[in-house]
Amino acid sequence: MRHASPIATTAMAVAVLATSASLVTTGAIRLKGRAAPRTQLVLLGTGTPNADPDRSGPAVAIVVDDVPYLVDAGPGVVRRAAAASARGIKGLDPKLLRTAFITHLHSDHTAGYPDLVFTPAVLERDAPLQVYGPPGIRVMTDHVMKAWAEDVDVRLRDLEPAKPAGYEVRAHEVKPGLVYKDARLSVHAFAVPHGAWKRSFAYRFDTPDRSIVVSGDSGPSGQLASACNGCDVLVHEVYSTAGFVTRPPEWQRYHRVYHTSSAELATLAAKARPGLLVLYHQLFWGTTDEALVAEVKRGYAGKVVSGRDLDVF
Ligand SMILES: [Zn+2]
Ligand SMILES: [Zn+2]
Repeated sequence: MRHASPIATTAMAVAVLATSASLVTTGAIRLKGRAAPRTQLVLLGTGTPNADPDRSGPAVAIVVDDVPYLVDAGPGVVRRAAAASARGIKGLDPKLLRTAFITHLHSDHTAGYPDLVFTPAVLERDAPLQVYGPPGIRVMTDHVMKAWAEDVDVRLRDLEPAKPAGYEVRAHEVKPGLVYKDARLSVHAFAVPHGAWKRSFAYRFDTPDRSIVVSGDSGPSGQLASACNGCDVLVHEVYSTAGFVTRPPEWQRYHRVYHTSSAELATLAAKARPGLLVLYHQLFWGTTDEALVAEVKRGYAGKVVSGRDLDVF
């Protein structure tokens, strides 16, 4: 189902409620009254290593003509995809998850990787999972496959109906530049600064109707601003400048080097000029979504929203 209008969205919500009394339907579906786009940006998880029950681990889906492409696999990724699918984004049916781009190998971005490998496989995914990421993704994949080797053996050899191809993973280690292209989109990786990580990527997606840049984890990066250069949507990590001063000095040192403050993001966004700036992977430290947006707007005049899980843009 497409979200062609608020009426369609309401009808969908009613239909979902009718089939699942327990499903909360308050998540924002923010497309308003325009022709159904071919590309939908879905925030599957906006969280951080903090175990916030309302924010799943970092994961974003770009869905083009009902075909999903994921960025990162934070904990909860497959269940959030299932939730989006239940709300009408049919490309996010878990068994259709076949392509993922990993920004870097920090655990908060990859703790859901085994989930992404195995859960759709059990649900009869019928093709290998293709994963693109920095050097190290291949070794991580080998370890994941070894860790669950007995599980895979039992599932494939005994009574479960299973599609062996769905249990395969093709891990591709990529360099900055064009990393993927098919009939629906092209994907470029950009190196971003993230402390001691030798390789951390942002990705730019160009589809028939949208250009979307996802920062991953990054300190302020001029290269990332250039990668956007007037893109339709920039999804960027951020920490609260107000919250930062409440942090212990040793944590402040870490955040300053590894991440981007709201004030720094304002400067970056002014250079990047996105049609919409979406804050994700937010470190609030007691600040609200509204106050965080206000922090960014203090230095940036463009459109800004603070993303929540299952928001659709
Ligand atoms: Zn990180
Ligand atoms: Zn992170």
